[in-house]
Amino acid sequence: MSDDQTFAALRQELDRWRSAGRTARLWLRDDDAVEVTDALEQLLDTTRQATVPLTLAVIPAFTGEALVARLAREDHVLVAVHGWSHENHAGPDEKKQELGSHRHADVVLAQLRNGLDRLRLLHGPKLVPMLVPPWNRISAELVPRLEEQGFEVLSVFGRMRDNSPIRLLNTHVDVVNARGQRGDRPHADLVRELVGELRTRFAGGEDPCARERPAPVDEPIGILTHHLVHGASERAFLARLFEETVDHSAVSWMSATDLVGGLALPQGRVE
Ligand SMILES: [Zn+2]
Repeated sequence: MSDDQTFAALRQELDRWRSAGRTARLWLRDDDAVEVTDALEQLLDTTRQATVPLTLAVIPAFTGEALVARLAREDHVLVAVHGWSHENHAGPDEKKQELGSHRHADVVLAQLRNGLDRLRLLHGPKLVPMLVPPWNRISAELVPRLEEQGFEVLSVFGRMRDNSPIRLLNTHVDVVNARGQRGDRPHADLVRELVGELRTRFAGGEDPCARERPAPVDEPIGILTHHLVHGASERAFLARLFEETVDHSAVSWMSATDLVGGLALPQGRVE
């Protein structure tokens, strides 16, 4: 199937939003930035040309001035805190986690505060006080204590739940990873997932076909990328996605700051 046919379902859904006078809020989060690489340059180019705001989740322990100098030239980029060192502390039979319950909570939280302080010192106003847990996983006991460390928002993967102790700005479509797959995800699958997210919001959270919990109507839709492993397929998907959406009057690509600061986010809960 050509990309044109693949994206027809998205066009159709967005036209429905336009006819109803509604606007879908999208945001883009990219993970694992540390230094300036060709892959990062590519993502910066694509997003700048498309005028799509980008939130880069940066690993505090290993980053430094080179990334600061490079990002200073990009008005459309914000920085979030991607754990501390992105090291796995889980056992060989567990899912990978840096922020799990394998270490004392005080130790983990102290590292997260260091990460936030370090990135704020480096990136100044570009820093959003947002924690992006490595592998999108964080122990439930840590979440109520994130605000004490200076975080204002948490970003993981999946639809938000009610009653979170901290605001959530989540991602919902992972361009690179699927269960058992890393890279080269079929574009039709990605479009289907995005259209699914749009449909549940359009319907006010009701989606009889969805196995996932309903999305709050006003939850922004987060697109998640990992620039370091993007190949031709991911680059083509993003280029096409931006082409289809940036100028569409039913879509608003928003920065994390605008979403966190300017507009009330629904309260959610993580598992
Ligand atoms: Zn990561």
